[in-house]
Amino acid sequence: MKCPFCGSLDTQVIDSRVNEAGDAIRRRRRCAACDKRFTTWETAELRPPQIVKTNGTREDFSETKLHEGFRRALHKRPVPTELVDAAVDRIRQRLLTLGEREVPAREVGELVMNELKKLDKVAYIRFASVYRSFQDVEDFRDVIRDIDQ
Ligand SMILES: [Zn+2]
Repeated sequence: MKCPFCGSLDTQVIDSRVNEAGDAIRRRRRCAACDKRFTTWETAELRPPQIVKTNGTREDFSETKLHEGFRRALHKRPVPTELVDAAVDRIRQRLLTLGEREVPAREVGELVMNELKKLDKVAYIRFASVYRSFQDVEDFRDVIRDIDQ
């Protein structure tokens, strides 16, 4: 592993430990040339599925886009970033463990709604009203009833 500071190839692992979840190994490395230290992570490569949009086009799953969606729904709502990060992570994990090569965007939308429902009810209604583009008053009533449970 090349030193990110000086580019020397002479680096050594000085410590290596498995993270708490047991799915990654963290290694501390030291560069023999410049003596600086840095960290590398080793994780299993899992490929998230392609997202199939309603118009039939496919796109790569994007954690950034997911974050953006949450950010928009949670605009000016008192929800800590850590909770949003955890929600995004749960959705990503869920998609990975599905082991599917393609997943409909609708399904991702439902996962987002489930998370928002737990995070913030106002944001949930905000997202649901746009996402489901409430066909009629009955739909809206269903969502309101949903969050009361
Ligand atoms: Zn170096």
